[in-house]
Amino acid sequence: MRFSNLFGKTLKEIPSEADTLSHQLLLRSGMIQQVAAGVYSYLPLGWRVLKKIEQIIREEMDNAGGQELMLPTLQPFELWEKSGRYPAFGKTLFTVTDRREHTLILGPTHEEVITDLVSRFVQSYRDLPLLLYQIQNKFRDEPRPRGGLLRVREFIMKDLYSFHTDEEDLNETYQKMIQAYKNVYTRCGLPAVMVEADSGAIGGKESHEFMLIAETGEDGIVHCANCDYAANLEKAQSVKPKYEAKASLSIEEISTPNIKTIEEVANFVGVAPHQTLKAVFYSADGELVFVVIRGDIEVNETKLRNLLKCAELRLATEIEVKAAGLVAGAASPVGLKGMKIIADDSITLGSNYVAGANKPDIHLKNVNYPRDFEVSIMADIATARPDDGCPKCGGKLLSSLGIEVGHVFKLGTFLSEKLGASFLDQNGVSRTIIMGTYGIGLGRLLAAAIEQNHDEKGIIWPLSIAPFHVYLCPLRLENPDVAEAAEKIYQDLTNQNIEVLYDDRDESPGVKFNDADLLGIPMRLTVSPRTLQSQSIELKWRNEKLAELLPLEKITSKIQRLIREAGKL
Ligand SMILES: [Zn+2]
Repeated sequence: MRFSNLFGKTLKEIPSEADTLSHQLLLRSGMIQQVAAGVYSYLPLGWRVLKKIEQIIREEMDNAGGQELMLPTLQPFELWEKSGRYPAFGKTLFTVTDRREHTLILGPTHEEVITDLVSRFVQSYRDLPLLLYQIQNKFRDEPRPRGGLLRVREFIMKDLYSFHTDEEDLNETYQKMIQAYKNVYTRCGLPAVMVEADSGAIGGKESHEFMLIAETGEDGIVHCANCDYAANLEKAQSVKPKYEAKASLSIEEISTPNIKTIEEVANFVGVAPHQTLKAVFYSADGELVFVVIRGDIEVNETKLRNLLKCAELRLATEIEVKAAGLVAGAASPVGLKGMKIIADDSITLGSNYVAGANKPDIHLKNVNYPRDFEVSIMADIATARPDDGCPKCGGKLLSSLGIEVGHVFKLGTFLSEKLGASFLDQNGVSRTIIMGTYGIGLGRLLAAAIEQNHDEKGIIWPLSIAPFHVYLCPLRLENPDVAEAAEKIYQDLTNQNIEVLYDDRDESPGVKFNDADLLGIPMRLTVSPRTLQSQSIELKWRNEKLAELLPLEKITSKIQRLIREAGKL
């Protein structure tokens, strides 16, 4: 491809709407263009990267026994009513109304459609297992689309759905898909970490995410310094530090004028935060819920939502708290009646707490559970913290940030049951099909690749997903020797299936080098009067600092070999 023919322009300035690093670099390099909030066009350079990622994923899905098919974007509302997942997705679903006043959903995911499809074809255990996948656009009305391709409303996903006669068969495929995912990331040049994950709105019982570790990551991850335990912070468990129970002292009221937060209370009374009880109020599907947790620990809203099995969970408003007769800043589980009290099990790992008294400016000392109050549900609803103990081995937990680039779920039977997907077993008995589902967002992976691989000058693409292998950069093109040599190298490399972006523009060396760095093409070849004087060209890898001179003789085969070695193409 000649740069002068390439559609799209590089930008020197950082576009003001870009709120993440990958977003800035994708816009500056002319790879994408925003059409509406969370809706993007891919320009030729960006599309080339996406197609390479797509092809790697396709090959790995095929290798794992997947069969590709195509499913519609428009999905009948009735299927979502049948599956019962309509409320869980809620406002995330895009809906349209057709001329007959039928509601259709723009597919945010395709479990409903594919399960219905499979239920029409699978009759016997002999028809299973089945691994079917699609690579298509999906739609989710994200409340806050942001980050360029990281959180969008229209996006390209690979989703594979698997169908099984029993758990063992599902487990086998689940492991096979994990391996296929690992292969995808390795082949893309993007080392990913697998972590235990929450199943979220998709549902199901066991799930794992694949994370690219990046400083700009939006997901917290904890992992053990000692064993292989790793989990998304939403899901992570930990061994909470225990503070030896002393003898229970008698409860007493203390005056705490204008003292509200845990920090203020702890300072005022002269105790550590772990010697206090924190009260937090939530509205769970409209019901006010009182949550009590040890003062040094934060509530994990994902765990709380799963525990309460509610669709909408949010912090209660001041008005709601007041209306329930609670005193914000001094609320207490002691003496509380007629309200659901959820306690984190951390409150059993200490004693003689300072807690609210449900009276303005008054707290209680020496509050003990269960002597002084009851709870409706006791569970782990805490956010794991670095330095907590590993739930598997007791080792130390460490934390990092990551970007989710893949998610695999064991769905079980809850969808196939509702959608009537069954089969006859060896004894002719009808049984429900067991399912798994496995997704990768392609655009998200592309953006995450940039978040993980860049420097102050631009993108540094791994070779296997780079838009081109070689950036051919002639300087002083008006010099006929340079023009002739560059043209020949361009033709020869192209004939050998090496993808070359030939910067044939009449631009200064500075502009060309800056664009080469910005676009992040792995190998830069510079041809100039100076290099030709020594019968050579200059080679510089994007991810290395130093350049080297390569003799012109047999240059094509040398480049070919270098690229093969670098990328195992
Ligand atoms: Zn461990």
